[in-house]
Amino acid sequence: MAKQKLKFAFYWAASCGGCEIAVLDINEKILDVVQFADIVFWPVAMDIKYKDVENMPDKYIDVCFFNGGIRNSEQEHMAKLLRQKSKILVAYGACAHLGGVPGLANLHNKKEIFEKVYVQTFSTSNPNHVFPQPKVQVKEGVLEIPEFYDTVRTLDQTVDVDYYVPGCPPAVERTIFALEAIAKGELPPKGSVLAPLKSVCDECPKKKENKKISRIYRVYEKIPDPERCLLEQGIICMGPATRGGCSARCLKVDMPCTGCGGPCPNAPEQGAAMISALASILGLEEEKEKYTEEEVEKLIDQIKDPIGTFYMYALPASILRRKVIRE
Ligand code: SF4
Ligand code: SF4
Ligand code: SF4
Repeated sequence: MAKQKLKFAFYWAASCGGCEIAVLDINEKILDVVQFADIVFWPVAMDIKYKDVENMPDKYIDVCFFNGGIRNSEQEHMAKLLRQKSKILVAYGACAHLGGVPGLANLHNKKEIFEKVYVQTFSTSNPNHVFPQPKVQVKEGVLEIPEFYDTVRTLDQTVDVDYYVPGCPPAVERTIFALEAIAKGELPPKGSVLAPLKSVCDECPKKKENKKISRIYRVYEKIPDPERCLLEQGIICMGPATRGGCSARCLKVDMPCTGCGGPCPNAPEQGAAMISALASILGLEEEKEKYTEEEVEKLIDQIKDPIGTFYMYALPASILRRKVIRE
């Protein structure tokens, strides 16, 4: 008897859509996937309604790949619904895994974001400060839109997650690894990040010479020697604090790692791990006595956007989580 096909679902929440495309980046391998799996829910590609998912028996879906963080009530509802309907829930991509770039909005609250988007932008004229309301009574009835939350949450801050596929978007090899592990029934223990236990530096072809730096450059300020470690040339590269598994793809085109693979397994606070790596390369740890407090501050001041640099993908998942805004 032919083996029954697995049932897959894909969903996007607070995401840019890149992870939906990343699924297709596996090219001809998609033909292998359709051999062993049917897609039963994929709003970006199939006409299927939420009602259809609600009508599925619990655990009907074998594997749900969920990308995007949780920013509003619709996404929260779908995360809970898909958890209920799926045997395995995979946080696919940095946004579901760690909050991702949209998670940087946790530096503001809903009020600030609405003011910016619906009042202050140059192309907006909104003198009465009209903002979207979750429910509005019109003569035909009540119109509803999802409620926008103050804080972006990761998928596992909302529901139980079985596996994580890191990356913004996940590298092709990570997607293939996950699909093959599912197809062969060889998934690691629940809670695993489906990526190697090494850092981006471990995969990077650039030469490290253990050199200290005395100045930090932004990417556009310096043309680096392509053979040498970018961090040792003063360009902040998150490689030491970031989990590998992408074959150091940014470094291969001479761009620094910005950290999308998330934290290394042994240092879960990615930003703090990078600050520590930076302190070491600036010689601040070994040569404390050499620097006055003012000089240290001057060095650190060269980092123009510390949160955006050290927590570009992981602010909601970090111990900082969000900025406290007192009104
Ligand atoms: S992880 Fe990156 S590519 Fe994927 S949805 Fe988020 S921002 Fe887009
Ligand atoms: S810091 Fe960046 S450039 Fe240097 S070895 Fe690590 S990944 Fe490569
Ligand atoms: S090098 Fe860094 S930013 Fe680039 S894909 Fe790999 S983990 Fe992501």
